[in-house]
Amino acid sequence: MRQLGNSHNAYKHLAGLRGTRSHYSGECRTTEHSTDASRTLSSRAVNLSTPLSELSHLSAQRLRQLDRFGLLTLGDLITHFPRRWEDRTQFDRWPNGESDEPICVCGVVAKVSSKRVGGRMKITEVLLEEAGAHALSNRLVCRWFNAYWVEKVVAVGQTLVVYGKPKRRSRDVAVEHPEFEVVEEDSGEPIHLQRITPIHRATEGLSTRVLRKLIWDALQQLTAADAPNLIPPALDRMSRLEALRQIHFPDSSETLAAARRHLVLEEFFAMQLIVGAKHAEQAAQPGERHMATGALVKQFHASLPFELTGAQVRAIEEIDRDLASPRAMNRLLHGDVGSGKTLVALSAMLQVVEAGYQAALMAPTQILAEQHYLTAKRLLAPLGVRVALRTGSRKENAGDPLFDHQQWMESVKGSPGAERPIYSNEPQILIGTHALLYEGAGFTRLGLAVIDEQHKFGVLQRARLRDQGGPGMIPDMLVMTATPIPRTLVMTLYGDLDVSTLDELPKGRGKIITGARNRSKLPEAVKFLREHLEKGRQAYIVYPLIDQSDRLEAKAAAAEFEKWRELLAPMPCGLLHGRIPPDEKDAIMERFRLGETKALIATTVIEVGIDVPNANIMLIENAERFGLAQLHQLRGRIGRGEHKSYCVLITESEEPGALEKLRVLEETVDGFKIADADLQMRGPGDILGTQQSGLPPLKLGDILRDGELMRQARGAAFVLLERDPQLLAPEHAHYRALLAQTRKLTLAQVS
Ligand code: ADP
Ligand code: MG
Repeated sequence: MRQLGNSHNAYKHLAGLRGTRSHYSGECRTTEHSTDASRTLSSRAVNLSTPLSELSHLSAQRLRQLDRFGLLTLGDLITHFPRRWEDRTQFDRWPNGESDEPICVCGVVAKVSSKRVGGRMKITEVLLEEAGAHALSNRLVCRWFNAYWVEKVVAVGQTLVVYGKPKRRSRDVAVEHPEFEVVEEDSGEPIHLQRITPIHRATEGLSTRVLRKLIWDALQQLTAADAPNLIPPALDRMSRLEALRQIHFPDSSETLAAARRHLVLEEFFAMQLIVGAKHAEQAAQPGERHMATGALVKQFHASLPFELTGAQVRAIEEIDRDLASPRAMNRLLHGDVGSGKTLVALSAMLQVVEAGYQAALMAPTQILAEQHYLTAKRLLAPLGVRVALRTGSRKENAGDPLFDHQQWMESVKGSPGAERPIYSNEPQILIGTHALLYEGAGFTRLGLAVIDEQHKFGVLQRARLRDQGGPGMIPDMLVMTATPIPRTLVMTLYGDLDVSTLDELPKGRGKIITGARNRSKLPEAVKFLREHLEKGRQAYIVYPLIDQSDRLEAKAAAAEFEKWRELLAPMPCGLLHGRIPPDEKDAIMERFRLGETKALIATTVIEVGIDVPNANIMLIENAERFGLAQLHQLRGRIGRGEHKSYCVLITESEEPGALEKLRVLEETVDGFKIADADLQMRGPGDILGTQQSGLPPLKLGDILRDGELMRQARGAAFVLLERDPQLLAPEHAHYRALLAQTRKLTLAQVS
């Protein structure tokens, strides 16, 4: 099997392949007579940013097609990398039965036929025979359903390369909807045949064959000077031009792998230059010392009913060091659900308060902000610390009734933060939602900004909170996330931050037992649930959000609620979803917290942060619709008290894989393992794409599988930036250009 997918494992298949072309049997030769593509690029000097429109040999129609496909410059064209490769030096054996692996064969068209079945369906069949063989030669039926265009492009006598999975269909071996290409002999050097041939993503009018020839011609024209290396030579010895040639038209599996390595390093290096430049910029930022004696924090820790975990102590020490230094802190606090991040944040906030500054904590939802507010107030008010809440719905102030916001804003007008005396009623800790990002949030001397569940915010919001700090303030930043992500991803998504990790859960946590069940088992699950509610425990019931529109969501919620209220009667139940007005939401949460309602029927609004230790059961409906990492996050709402906890995942899906997938959650509560499994299933695109990562899109590299290359690229980028932070040295000019260009791409993506 010699189909080389654009994925890591594909190279394994090629391991034994040498770049020889002698195996080629030669049956597929006809004559090359392509039109525009066979002429060459104009003789004028070109480089990778040369617009394709300046190449004289391309017709206006061709240019329009390329343009629509997003290929505008020569660089775009030659970085339109193949999605797989076919080894057309050695085709596969003709299949005589089914195979799960796709095969690639070359043959001659013996017959083309079409027939209609059952009214509107049209079946087109192409009978392919092994070339040069006699009457009893190998045959393969290629079959299409309602593909009217096939008849127009395939004719008897043509040579076809066909790629697909063979199936047994009565007496025939057939391939349904195969990928195929009508081939003709290459007149000069082999491009389409007799070589490892690239298959590019194609589009209407721009077949893979046309693209291949365009790219071939472009590569012939380029010299090493047109395509200078974009990575330091220490990282990889191959030249960029050679890598570009080999990725499209490899001599062998080895050169293909080497070319991919070079180009992945190039992508990662560009990415890490951005990350590294941001890191260097932040490191150079002047900051302030936000630390006094630490007495207030000591008092706080002594007041807690439990011991800090070792990981919490470590993280607090790391943060304290940053607070004490005059450099601005940019730190990520990374820890699984329930690892106790809030406590670490509160400790940092207290240090800052003691030093005479304000601290802010921003959370992604109102429910979470209010919960943090209540926690902070409960724990910190006894220490004499003034805590206030700012959310969209209560912009003014829900903190201290004695506090006069208006008067306070007046009094601080114009006075530069640090020198200004602290107004006696000014809040020292501000907790809120996005409302903190807007004018009048109430900062005058912000020393520390904490963002909880950072992955719910965009990169721009992080910067914005920092800028809110009040006149002349450069607050320290702490961002927290519970998304357990692999290390490679941390150094990419959060590569500009220093990282503290909470890799230890507090002792004495109730265990969480998870079970995945089919829908048919729901009655048993309900019985189990009722038993626990009768014993005084509480439960969450989570249902997937079916529709984002207000009306439908409210309706679905109401229906779910009725259903569960009947199932659990006479237990009092609450309903919570995104469309409930904030005040009502509070009241509902409060009743649940106080134990007045026993079961909370909710959407994923409860995904982050909610902390009700007496709730020890969670039932999740249609669990197959969630990602594993999200289910883990949801499950983190239970297992917070002394009672053993149970998470029941109900799936409606009949697909055989559905339950299997959920088994991962039965087997482990280790968020990192789950995140890995999740990413393997979904691919990292999701995470990088949807979170406004502030990073350029990747064409070749795979953040998960190419972790080692990412580490190397990061090392090289950071070394370079350490020596030349602004990349001003003349020999670094093209790195500077690369950085500027990658940034542009990135901004386009974020906005
Ligand atoms: P997360 O990291 O998911 O934000 P939280 O900060 O909400 O976790 O903490 C979860 C729960 O654990 C809270 O009820 C908190 O009071 C409690 N907790 C935090 N640290 C400890 C500790 N060292 N020992 C026992 N319980 C703790
Ligand atoms: Mg939290």
